[in-house]
Amino acid sequence: MDITIGVLALQGAFNEHIQLLREAGQIVASKENNSQKKWIFKEVRTEAELTSCDALIIPGGESTAISLVAQRSNMLEPLRHFVKVTRKPTWGTCAGLILLAEAANQTKRGGQELIGGLDVRVNRNHFGRQVESFQANLDLPFLQKADGDGQDVETSQKPFRAIFIRAPIVEKLLPRVSGIQQDEAKAEETVIAPSRAMDESVAKDITLADVEIMGVLPGRTAAVKDDGMEEKLDAEAGDIIAVRQANVFGTSFHPELTGDPRIHVWWLEQVVEAIGRRKKS
Ligand code: GLN
Repeated sequence: MDITIGVLALQGAFNEHIQLLREAGQIVASKENNSQKKWIFKEVRTEAELTSCDALIIPGGESTAISLVAQRSNMLEPLRHFVKVTRKPTWGTCAGLILLAEAANQTKRGGQELIGGLDVRVNRNHFGRQVESFQANLDLPFLQKADGDGQDVETSQKPFRAIFIRAPIVEKLLPRVSGIQQDEAKAEETVIAPSRAMDESVAKDITLADVEIMGVLPGRTAAVKDDGMEEKLDAEAGDIIAVRQANVFGTSFHPELTGDPRIHVWWLEQVVEAIGRRKKS
């Protein structure tokens, strides 16, 4: 079975994703015995290329530039169709997360189009000018397997060194709606994604769930603890930097710039599961 993973290659760090996907594909293959799977990783610039994909990554870069190029190359509607109508697995990193949000702040009206797919509001360039870029060790619960799952337990539990570059955060989880985010549309500085309904005859396997918080950058209260007490990862205590809603996943940071393939491995496994579910339904 061939599985084709596309990386949107209109602007930004698409090449780095392809490199790390190749590495991750080998790790996934080595974990499975006698797998008949063949991974194909490809750059996506046209509708025909997108249609041939089973899953898609939207890379980091500049979300305004990506959306502008997508608009000029007639890719916005095919992307909305891929993510919101057929609901194929999609992962956005940094600018990619912004494009997958249903609402985004700090964006000029008319200056930015969104694809949507995640019922969240992101705040662009959240960390401001002072700390435009920084690195942080994240404890990402979805990577931590008690049995190591093919790698040693220590590797699976090691914090993920995340690179944030003029990064957005998820500042609000929005109600799950089937149309547009009406309340968000009222705010001055917020842009919203147009509504596209899921095609239930194609996406038979999908139940639109609420947004799940997958990772948090500990806030000051959580990070500053030095009294020897165990630090608790608490959604209230920090900024939300990873979310998932059904097949759509978004991270504020850039795993493709670290050389650590763990999130790519995890995501490829999610894609395999999603394809399996769709086949059965
Ligand atoms: N600040 C960028 C934007 O608004 C995102 C930065 C990134 O992808 N590293 O699109």
